[in-house]
Amino acid sequence: KTFEDCGFPGELMKAIAKQAYEKPTPIQCQALPIVLSGRDIIGIAKTGSGKTASFVLPMIVHIMDQPELEKEEGPIGVICAPTRELAHQIYLEAKKFSKAHGIRVSAVYGGMSKLEQFKELKAGCEIVVATPGRLIDMIKMKALTMTRTTYLVLDEADRMFDLGFEPQIRSIVGQIRPDRQTLLFSATMPRKVEKLAREILSDPVRVTV
Ligand code: AMP
Repeated sequence: KTFEDCGFPGELMKAIAKQAYEKPTPIQCQALPIVLSGRDIIGIAKTGSGKTASFVLPMIVHIMDQPELEKEEGPIGVICAPTRELAHQIYLEAKKFSKAHGIRVSAVYGGMSKLEQFKELKAGCEIVVATPGRLIDMIKMKALTMTRTTYLVLDEADRMFDLGFEPQIRSIVGQIRPDRQTLLFSATMPRKVEKLAREILSDPVRVTV
């Protein structure tokens, strides 16, 4: 399988070539066609598998497919991750592929000035990469609304639960329209994560690497 097989638009293919990603990794081979078809997914995969690109690349396509970007405000894609470090990694990966498309990515996690983040979100963005606690803070400060959000990723869901973020995740998901596409990635699937997946994903495909 190749990236060409996925039918990515030319600009995105160029960005992929620039990264010297020769061919999709096993998780990308399995997940990309499913996510690009618009279906919900549960991906059982660890860091290092290339899972980030398997949700970032279809997210770029999803955003490019939105007909009237200007009409509303707030992110179209929201990614939640357990730690600053992971959120930052995802942010960098998202930046690589969004730059050429004029898609704006904002990072929202602890350790950075809330005022700066507030201002950046107010200026507008299409993608937000966030840790759950700080995202809730920003929503409370009315830095953003998620009325435009149609693509939600929960990355390392098991770790987010271990860190006690279940209430924050439920609150965030509850503020996003139910006709969204939802992607859940986790290294393991404890019962609590399985239960959340049953509640917030619709007819998901499960892939394991
Ligand atoms: P991840 O598991 O998403 O953290 O990715 C691990 C590393 O693999 C990151 O440095 C990615 O930039 C890189 N990577 C992702 N997809 C590919 C690919 N198809 N070919 C080569 N490297 C990749």
